[in-house]
Amino acid sequence: QAKQDGRNDYRFFISNMSPPDMVRASLESALHHALERQELSLQYQPQIRVSNKQFIGTEVLLRWTHETLGSISPVVFIPVLEETGLINKVGEWVLASSCRQHQEWIEKGALPSDAKLSVNLSPRQFRQRDLADRIVQILDITGMKPQLLTLEITEGVLMDNLQQGIDILGRLREIGVSIAIDDFGTGYSSLAYLKDLPIDYLKIDRVFVKDIVDDKNDAAIANSIIALAHNLGMEVIAEGVEDHNVLGVLQAFGCDHYQGFFFSRPVDPEKIPGIALQLFSDESFGFTGTTHPS
Ligand code: C2E
Ligand code: MG
Ligand code: MG
Ligand code: MG
Repeated sequence: QAKQDGRNDYRFFISNMSPPDMVRASLESALHHALERQELSLQYQPQIRVSNKQFIGTEVLLRWTHETLGSISPVVFIPVLEETGLINKVGEWVLASSCRQHQEWIEKGALPSDAKLSVNLSPRQFRQRDLADRIVQILDITGMKPQLLTLEITEGVLMDNLQQGIDILGRLREIGVSIAIDDFGTGYSSLAYLKDLPIDYLKIDRVFVKDIVDDKNDAAIANSIIALAHNLGMEVIAEGVEDHNVLGVLQAFGCDHYQGFFFSRPVDPEKIPGIALQLFSDESFGFTGTTHPS
């Protein structure tokens, strides 16, 4: 009898869930196991200097390959990790694994000693009281120089609690890591925070970049973001550069760096040394024999 009731309760529960809730609930339970089943992995997307095509570093991007569903987009699963709080554990794994990988590349001479690594931080991770201590610990264990690490946060993170944001960024600045504002211009935030915070990079979101050649409003916005960043002593990274003409406009606007499918999609780690090697300026390796066209 009890068993029967239980089953009815279960059916009642399911029938009252909307399809998105059901998808979410099963995603959530699948994500609980993803780490231990080693379904999570990392890809890296090269970041390139616009002026001379030099390799400056990579952004690490989380990947989830479910055993039956296959590859699931971070746009779908990151919000679930965020809401459940699992992001703290997964985010720490991303940070530790990518720092270890990056340091290994540098030690082997597979990347130049000044190559940088960019890691996305979710709002929930950013609000962890001991975030700075955790980062220091990871840098200590992996041996990675703090000056090579950039943390990417979105504007919204700072607007939620500006004073707390100022405190955390101050601590991170003391450690020596850099800060990038990701998806700049897409949040509902004021510009006021830019004047008081130690920010190193603005990343122009792909929505302003993709139609830059034909849409004069997008071009005006991108150009203005670049001028704003430079006037504040920051550098700019354009996201989502898919073709040569887009890159040409960004170059004319004085954009510092870019990433995008035009140069390279995010790739598996073993591909990074080869891509970087092809782009290193000769000085980075201490060679003097040849020079690359720029
Ligand atoms: P994001 O940090 O803005 O990352 C850039 C996204 O644009 C990546 O999508 C990348 O694959 C994609 N992209 C790069 N170049 C191009 C291009 O030329 N064209 C187009 N159409 N797309 C391009 P992805 O890997 O699907 O990641 C989506 C978002 O998920 C990221 O946006 C970031 O917000 C989040 N994410 C990914 N990995 C992590 C992580 O480890 N931690 C956290 N907290 N968030 C992550
Ligand atoms: Mg990012
Ligand atoms: Mg972005
Ligand atoms: Mg984005």
